[in-house]
Amino acid sequence: MEGPFVIVGGDAAGMSAASKAKRDDPDRDVVVFEKGEWVSYAACGLPYYVKGDVETLDDLVQVTPEAFVEERGIDLRTNHEVTAVDRAERTVTVTGPDGEFEQAYGDLLLATGAQAVVPPFDGIDLDGVFTLHNMNEAAEIRRYLGLDTPTANLPEMGYGAAAAEYAEAEGPESVAVIGGGYVGIEMAEAFAAHGLDVHLFEMLPHTLQPFGTEAAGVVEDHLREQGVELHLDTAVDGMVGDNHVEAIAAGDLTIPVDLALVGVGVAPNTELAEAAGIELGPTGAIATDEYGRTNDEQVFAAGDNAEMTHVVTGGPDHVPLALTANRAGRAIGATVAGEPTPVGEIAGTAAVKAFDLEVARTGIVDEEAAREAGFDPVSVTITARSRAHYYPGDEEIQVTLLGDRDSGRVLGASMVGREGVAKRIDTVATALYARMTAHQLSYLDLAYAPPFSPVWDPVLTAGKVLD
Ligand code: FAD
Repeated sequence: MEGPFVIVGGDAAGMSAASKAKRDDPDRDVVVFEKGEWVSYAACGLPYYVKGDVETLDDLVQVTPEAFVEERGIDLRTNHEVTAVDRAERTVTVTGPDGEFEQAYGDLLLATGAQAVVPPFDGIDLDGVFTLHNMNEAAEIRRYLGLDTPTANLPEMGYGAAAAEYAEAEGPESVAVIGGGYVGIEMAEAFAAHGLDVHLFEMLPHTLQPFGTEAAGVVEDHLREQGVELHLDTAVDGMVGDNHVEAIAAGDLTIPVDLALVGVGVAPNTELAEAAGIELGPTGAIATDEYGRTNDEQVFAAGDNAEMTHVVTGGPDHVPLALTANRAGRAIGATVAGEPTPVGEIAGTAAVKAFDLEVARTGIVDEEAAREAGFDPVSVTITARSRAHYYPGDEEIQVTLLGDRDSGRVLGASMVGREGVAKRIDTVATALYARMTAHQLSYLDLAYAPPFSPVWDPVLTAGKVLD
């Protein structure tokens, strides 16, 4: 297609597509517009930056803007926001530091990501109430904790004087984390590492809903052991305070806190697409085909704003995760460069560190979801060891494996334990792609040596029990 390959959004999906397209077709102009100042950054590392495991925000940047321009030949423009797409004219409208202009495209990729959901809580605008979805928010949380910048600078950072006085006088001592998803749990650990009392609010009966109740139960016991005050089945009404947050209100509860982190999920950024007549799918994200194309042949979508096909259900799903975005972006880059490449299916494979525990999941973990997808689910939960029982340091691993009663096919799994979980889940993820039965899974030739696994790996044991 004539004309440049234009990409909206300069993170995982956008920069993967840009890099691949330019590498495979160096003569094609590749133009990326990123409305912020950061590109190719690892949002996944933000909780560890707040915690202090990662020293600077720069450490989270994979490739600098200069390297994209000078070494990869990509026309990358930061601080440029795309405000409209004209599909008939094949142009986008861009607002940058020098004003507004039109940019023609041959192919267009919408890689606009997602945004943190902010419920209409009372007091949501008080100082000390944060979401965590980008680099600047992470920096603001550290500043509010008084970690990077003298608290006296807070007014210059845009905080109210009252907050500065408050932080200077005492420093935050307690925090409400609202939402028991993976960001909420990672942030609970980060705040606890700085000595804050952590209250974690979850409106559902369990945290980590996509990981299943069996794994969540183990995590919740561990969170309590770590001193996190869990408020399950508890819907937050809002934040209380004059200038800065002083308490969280939830039904009859009013709990004093100095800081609040709202982590109740993300919503795909679809406004630009919708205004241009690009269709959304049943999940509310942009509908795409197996090549990441939207309902317009020349317009692709990838990453947190787009649907993908689920490997188990075969239907559209929206699971906003980093590899999905990188992979789809790379495939679209190849397609645009002349080598049609499917974006692949997703299994929703994910892992989370919850203090000293590893939790992981893949495929369908919930029996109800499996029934809705037309399966007759059966599940087993086993406990096994992470190493040979006689080898020092072995830990318990709990595996829940879900299968289809009729076909014997493995549908998904969750795991939790102190070690050997986060990567072990990949075996089950691979089995999902191979459409294996529990019997086939239980007969895989997996590595064994006492320091790494029992002779029957926990995955094999779960397969045997489910078979
Ligand atoms: P984004 O990274 O959101 O990038 C989209 C970009 O588009 C943004 O830079 C935005 O500024 C830009 N943009 C939007 N609209 C416009 C416009 N109109 N014009 C110009 N630019 C625009 N995933 C995992 O797999 N594992 C993890 O452990 C993990 N941890 C996470 C922890 C946190 C705290 C967060 C926030 C996310 C985490 N994720 C994790 C999710 C992962 O970061 C995302 O899936 C991934 O970043 C998605 O990449 P993307 O390119 O689709 O979108």
